[in-house]
Amino acid sequence: MNQEDCLFCKIVRKELNSNVVYEDDEVFAFEDINGRAPVHVLVVPRQHVANLEEIGQLPDGVTKRLFEVASEVAEKLDVTEGGYAVRINNGQDAGQEVFHLHLHVLGGKRLGMP
Ligand code: 5GP
Ligand code: ZN
Repeated sequence: MNQEDCLFCKIVRKELNSNVVYEDDEVFAFEDINGRAPVHVLVVPRQHVANLEEIGQLPDGVTKRLFEVASEVAEKLDVTEGGYAVRINNGQDAGQEVFHLHLHVLGGKRLGMP
């Protein structure tokens, strides 16, 4: 999978539509197309990395920003008080479908472990 073909790279480049929740030079956040909770946002680095094994390729600070933006999104969408989950599906057994690293921010209902 190269960056030309990657679904989330296309969303980040705005070649595909999404409901953008947040964006800056490093991080992009958009609503999941198939929300599994009242709040379900995906937070991605603009730079393509497939999974956690490639996270070392990201510039210093971007990993921290991913988590900060997850928190900012939760604040913006008003789930900080009720609580929310930040989840990374990494690889086949975790059900990863899109191989561009992303954090799921899930909130607005009671969430359990799988
Ligand atoms: P994964 O299973 O890889 O952790 O999560 C991929 C997520 O991307 C899924 O929750 C799925 O609903 C979401 N998704 C797949 N295609 C699209 C799309 O075209 N647009 C948006 N906004 N989300 C998508
Ligand atoms: Zn990508």
